[in-house]
Amino acid sequence: MSYTTAFCPNYTTARNRFRTSALALECRLEAYSIDQTGPNGEDLTIDVAILGNPHPQKVVVVSSGLHGVEGFFGSAVQCALLEERLVSWNQSQETTLLLLHALNPYGFAWCRRWNEENIDLNRNFLLPNEEYRGSPAKYGDLNAFFNPTSPPSRFEPFVVKAIATILRYGITSLTATLPVGQYDFPQGLFFGGNNPSKTYQILDANLPRWIGNATDVVHIDFHTGLGKKATYKLFIDDPPDSKPTQWLTEKFGDDVVEAYKARKVTYIFRGGLGTWCKAKFPKCNYRFLTAEFGTYPVIQVVEALRAENRAHFFSPPNHLSKDWTRQRLMEVFAPTDEDWRDAVVSQGLDLVGRAIAVL
Ligand SMILES: [Zn+2]
Repeated sequence: MSYTTAFCPNYTTARNRFRTSALALECRLEAYSIDQTGPNGEDLTIDVAILGNPHPQKVVVVSSGLHGVEGFFGSAVQCALLEERLVSWNQSQETTLLLLHALNPYGFAWCRRWNEENIDLNRNFLLPNEEYRGSPAKYGDLNAFFNPTSPPSRFEPFVVKAIATILRYGITSLTATLPVGQYDFPQGLFFGGNNPSKTYQILDANLPRWIGNATDVVHIDFHTGLGKKATYKLFIDDPPDSKPTQWLTEKFGDDVVEAYKARKVTYIFRGGLGTWCKAKFPKCNYRFLTAEFGTYPVIQVVEALRAENRAHFFSPPNHLSKDWTRQRLMEVFAPTDEDWRDAVVSQGLDLVGRAIAVL
């Protein structure tokens, strides 16, 4: 069968499908409003489905949509999981499955990567000793290029400008600046916020109850937009020679697991969800995998993010750019190509299956 039908056309359809499929399996369901509304006035919620023992030893967590628009894919895996793979799942007494649907429901509903405060949620989960301020040294220099304060044009020679910027500042200053996150430019790309986001607060309040006294957790957080098309990598932030890295590499394959310092482009970023989850449960073997599924070349992804952000802040209401930038952003994070859709959902399902099997 093809998994292309696992994709929903919008947030509300995805949310309803997730909840309906979870109820059919008799999951326990919870919903947390973020006090925002979608394009049709609908309430936006993070939805949670729990299947299995309420006091488990082991938990497999599958989360989607931390980056809003990337939720089209993560939700598709979760729905296919509920509708197909879990139907015949022999629940063990030990393992519980915790599905977190649309961690950034605003971004999912409005087709943005950022949340209602323009926050990149994977930079917002600072540890208690970290401050919501500071930026990479070069962000100020590059701000004018990344974040022009005017509506975008379809005909802008973005690639030429990008090459000129790379020649001027060097490729490493770009790769070591943009994805790192920043806390000083609230309308800029990769803004980590000035305070714990609503999503942070919801997870902070509820994750301890969901995880309970589990001793072992594997958490897969689904993302798109990075890497080779229709393939995936599992990014971990454990040190290269540590026990968690060895375990994850052995269980998930050294061809896909990318330890922190083994990455070709090494950058240190703060506020990642994985580091925060692991710090929150120091007595638990909490293994966190950021599963990144490739879509388009990175330059096209950055171009789409930049254009959409400009339209969001600087295009007048009903300006045509609001629409085409949103469409383009959806395409780079959830390509319409049916072969891509089929392949990534299939791979995502196998990945969750593996997590359940190895735990
Ligand atoms: Zn992402």
